Amino acid sequence: MARRIGIIGGGQLGQMLGRAAHALDAECTFLDPAPTPPAASTGRVIGRPFDDRGALGELAAVSDVITYEFENVPVEPLQALAATALVRPSPAALFHAQDRVREKQLFEHLDIPLPQWHAVQSADDLRRAAQTIGLPLVVKTRRFGYDGKGQAVLEALDDIDALVQRFDGKPLVAEQYVAFDCEVSGIAARGSDGTLAVYPLTRNEHRDGILRTSSAPAGSARLAELAAQALGRLLRHLDYVGVLALEFFVVGERLLANEFAPRVHNSGHWTIEGAATSQFENHLRAILGLPLGSTAANGHAGMVNLIGALPSSPATLLEAGMHLPDYGKAPRRGRKLGHITFVERSATARDDRLARLAAMLNC
Ligand code: AMP
Repeated sequence: MARRIGIIGGGQLGQMLGRAAHALDAECTFLDPAPTPPAASTGRVIGRPFDDRGALGELAAVSDVITYEFENVPVEPLQALAATALVRPSPAALFHAQDRVREKQLFEHLDIPLPQWHAVQSADDLRRAAQTIGLPLVVKTRRFGYDGKGQAVLEALDDIDALVQRFDGKPLVAEQYVAFDCEVSGIAARGSDGTLAVYPLTRNEHRDGILRTSSAPAGSARLAELAAQALGRLLRHLDYVGVLALEFFVVGERLLANEFAPRVHNSGHWTIEGAATSQFENHLRAILGLPLGSTAANGHAGMVNLIGALPSSPATLLEAGMHLPDYGKAPRRGRKLGHITFVERSATARDDRLARLAAMLNC
């Protein structure tokens, strides 16, 4: 009988998990408030809210294992569900990832280097942060920030009051502004037996806080080793089962952790064509208790996110070997609607193609 997977969230990550599930002879049911989210093309959807305990129970009744594809799933109902159903990764990972203060405290506890930071509740706190860390500071909401939303840069002490007011009393964190060389993400899977499988590092370019392009493998052997150590510590500490992405700032040969996502990640889309086993397949393998597949790269992969609009004539844009999954979402400013991936034989050819595509698509 096909293995049954319940997925909380039915966006494009759910859609890609759903496709990978078919290849493993598994079937997915999604919980999503939208009746026909992107993942509806790959499985049945229970069209109810994420915190609807009845709906979660319904999902558990038709699933051998439950997972999630975005991190703003309410933790409490999920913890309650985990008492009677198999939930992987465990809700403890969400508990830390949803709150930037808890996340940073966890990095500190695990000796994972990170930018200097302060929890901020008031203008006075922010003033103190500016005194100890210095300006500029990146100020972020503690919770519910994504794609650069809920963020601002504080350049001058005079702007403190206005900035705190703008965030309307929400709990904040202030971080040292890192003049990084580049950003990378480390993606790894941990199996139910504790086996770790780490993908080559991915280099990521963001604009306005949104991921635009990714390329892999990236970075030196030393950076890969540092990322693998940090990932290993984090995954083991959380007794994690599944795929997780840890984002870093690169400064010379150092890595500073920015945040982690307890799920498959946009910067890992290249693994579908560019790695022996995709992040989606490895996530499913992990949560189903199957052996993990190899994370080795097949070549030099590039990815461009399609944001706000899809190309008007994809057929003329796409060259041999390029893939363009359309998530089936209505166009909206800043919304991820699809992506393009390709694999080249050399890093130079990959970077050239990526630059050409990014210029054509205005990324
Ligand atoms: P985040 O929501 O924390 O992932 O931030 C989105 C993007 O904003 C990051 O990928 C960086 O490009 C930029 N950013 C965030 N925090 C900092 C920081 N402390 N210093 C410099 N840039 C940052």
